[in-house]
Amino acid sequence: MHFAVCIKQVPDTAEVKIDPETNTLVRAGVESMANPYDITALEEALRLKEKYGAKVTVLSMGPPQADSVLRQALSMGADDAVLLSDRAFAGADTLATSYTLSKAIETLGRVEPVDLVLCGKQAIDGDTAQTGPGIAARLALTQFTYVIEVQWIDLHKRRLQVRRKVEGGFEVILGPLPALLSVELELATPRRASLPMLINSFRAPVTVWNAETIGASAALVGIKGSPTWVKAIASPQVHRAGPRWDAAQGVRPAVTAALDTLFSDEDFAAGFLKGWKV
Ligand SMILES: Cc1cc2nc3c(=O)[nH]c(=O)nc-3n(C[C@H](O)[C@H](O)[C@H](O)COP(=O)(O)OP(=O)(O)OC[C@H]3O[C@@H](n4cnc5c(N)ncnc54)[C@H](O)[C@@H]3O)c2cc1C
Repeated sequence: MHFAVCIKQVPDTAEVKIDPETNTLVRAGVESMANPYDITALEEALRLKEKYGAKVTVLSMGPPQADSVLRQALSMGADDAVLLSDRAFAGADTLATSYTLSKAIETLGRVEPVDLVLCGKQAIDGDTAQTGPGIAARLALTQFTYVIEVQWIDLHKRRLQVRRKVEGGFEVILGPLPALLSVELELATPRRASLPMLINSFRAPVTVWNAETIGASAALVGIKGSPTWVKAIASPQVHRAGPRWDAAQGVRPAVTAALDTLFSDEDFAAGFLKGWKV
C-alpha cells in the first residue's frame, strides 16, 4: 500500500499578530511549525504502515523553507518527501491548494498508486477544513472526515472502517479504498523522533516539484486559480473579564455577592439582564 500525508507549514498561531494598518497577518519573525493535525495524520499513517505494511510519502505545498516540516516527518519515519514549491503556487486559496495537492498525488500515483491520503481536519491558520474534502472530490476518493479511529483495513477486499466524530457522539463507517481521511487530534499521539532518525532526516533528500512536474494548469494554481478574496481580517476586541461568583464556595454567598453587584452597578445590571433577555 501507499499512503500520502499532506502536511502544511503554519505559523505558530499563538504568536500571530494582525497589522492594524493593512489587516494582514504579520508573518515576519514568527516561528513556523508543522500543522499539529497533520502530524497526527502522519502518526496514524506510520502506525498503519507498521500494521499492514506500506510506503508513506509526505507532501507539502509551500515556500522552500517548508521543507523543515517534511524533514520532521522523515525523522518520524516517513519514507519519501515531496515539496511543492513554485512561485506560481503563491496566493493559493483552498480551491487552488486542493487542485495542486491532487495533481501531486496523481503524479505520485503514476509510479505507485496511492491507496490512502491522510490530511489534518484543518490547518490551524487557515482553519477552513476544505482542503482535504477538496482533494477527495477531485480524485474521486472515498471521503472520511473527522476521523478519531481507523478500526481496520481489509487489504483483500480493499476497504476500511473508521470511527468519526459527529455532534453529540460518533459514527462508524465503512467504505472502499482509495480513500482520504481528515483526522482529529485524538486519533493518535505523535511519536518522538529517535536521535539517529533525526540526524538522518537532515541528510535525506526532499524532492521538489513545480507546476510543470505535476502537469498543473497555470490558470488553476496560485492566485490565478483562486476565486476567494479576503475582504477584511481583524482581531476580536479583547474585553475586560467580568465579575465571577464561585458557587463552589457555597451557593448562598455566591448569589448574595451576585445580587450585591447587580444592585450596586446599574450599567452592569442592564447589560446582564439584556443578555438574559429578561
Ligand atoms: C486569496 C487568498 C490568498 C492566499 N495566499 C496565501 C499565500 O500567499 N500563502 C499562504 O501560505 N497562504 C495563503 N492563503 C491561505 C491558503 O489559501 C490556505 O491556507 C490554504 O488554501 C489551505 O487552507 P486552510 O489553511 O484553510 O487549510 P485546511 O483546509 O483547513 O487544511 C486541511 C488540511 O489540508 C492539508 N493542507 C492544507 N494546506 C496544505 C498545504 N499547503 N500543503 C500540504 N497540505 C495542506 C493539511 O493536511 C491540512 O490539515 C491565501 C488564501 C486566500 C483566500
